[in-house]
Amino acid sequence: MAVQWLLVCHGLVTLLVVVSFLCGQWPIFQGTFIQRIHNFLTFGAFDYFRRFIEYVFGSRGTNALYLAQYYCCDRPNPILQAMYLAIVGGTYCLIVYTTFNYIPGHYIAGYHRYTSMLAVGVGILLFLLASFSDPGTINSENVSQYLSLYPYDNIIYSEKECSTCKILKPARSKHCSICDRCVARFDHHCGWMNNCIGEKNTLYFVMFLFWHFFLCVYGTVAIGLVLAGRLKELEVVYILTAYYGIENSFRSLTPHVVQWLVNSYNTQILVMVFLAIVSLLLSGFFGYHASLCLSNTTTNETFKWQDYLSWQRKVEEAKASAEALKASLDELSSQEIKPPQSKWKSFFRKSHLEDINIVKNNIYDRGFLKNLYEIIYPLSSRHSFSFSKLKNE
Ligand SMILES: [Zn+2]
Ligand SMILES: [Zn+2]
Repeated sequence: MAVQWLLVCHGLVTLLVVVSFLCGQWPIFQGTFIQRIHNFLTFGAFDYFRRFIEYVFGSRGTNALYLAQYYCCDRPNPILQAMYLAIVGGTYCLIVYTTFNYIPGHYIAGYHRYTSMLAVGVGILLFLLASFSDPGTINSENVSQYLSLYPYDNIIYSEKECSTCKILKPARSKHCSICDRCVARFDHHCGWMNNCIGEKNTLYFVMFLFWHFFLCVYGTVAIGLVLAGRLKELEVVYILTAYYGIENSFRSLTPHVVQWLVNSYNTQILVMVFLAIVSLLLSGFFGYHASLCLSNTTTNETFKWQDYLSWQRKVEEAKASAEALKASLDELSSQEIKPPQSKWKSFFRKSHLEDINIVKNNIYDRGFLKNLYEIIYPLSSRHSFSFSKLKNE
């Protein structure tokens, strides 16, 4: 049983580390050990390492470390791109070497050898498209076109010049400090793609997330079918009941079947657990970005809206408090004329702050279908198409 427990521990530790790293800063984990693990992984571990380097190599070592940190985190670099290719390539090779000799199996057809290759190929193609396509770079030549396509809403965007590019910043654009350029409909800078995600490659990015979610589910189900086929082909249930005298019921057979699977196919089970965890994470990322696309909002704008709405709420709260204070002062001065309000009545009286209702007025949200169309066919592509058509005529 030692191997099984080792596998269970490995799965739990992997899940804990991945969830803490990616979701540790979420409000629901505030004050929990998941947030502490997140802080350690994102800041604490680096700080300990820096102190160690300083202790061993002195200020020269820390300078070199800061330079490496600057190169890895603040400059465009292909480190995460290489890591993505290594993870996808490594996992697929592992599946080919350990599982392909059981395909075709009792529950899985032979063509999955080729469709799996095609599915991985499509995933890599989407990765390359999102990584190397232009996200919608704004320069002095096309800035006027972008300014007319993306009007200012004067709520979260107003006329402003980019201090680095020295051009007007169209609404929804942002200057990426890593790529050192202004990008239209800027979503975020993706380290995995080593590229900004903007107006022209959001579609590839969202398709990349969906396709990799599908790939992980496909891998998990396919390995599951291979293992189920092995159980059937080797007549494990028959051997367990006929030769080992185990009762033919789901409850008594399950632990023995699991033990046999873990002992005989531990690599396949590890890969299955890994793919299942990654598919869960990817489903969350895809759901989040799909909902942003359907409401025509970018990740960058969600932060802007958060700031705007909380500031607006504070202003409204201050106004409501001032009005309430004025009303109670008026009430106090006219108390001689009016009978005083009962204490119970005033206790249950609705607070003025409860009436505050802040509305998010996103002018770029043109309805579900038009928003989706804007992702598939970006505004600037439509504009350049009509412009070149006019030129030809
Ligand atoms: Zn700029
Ligand atoms: Zn960038």
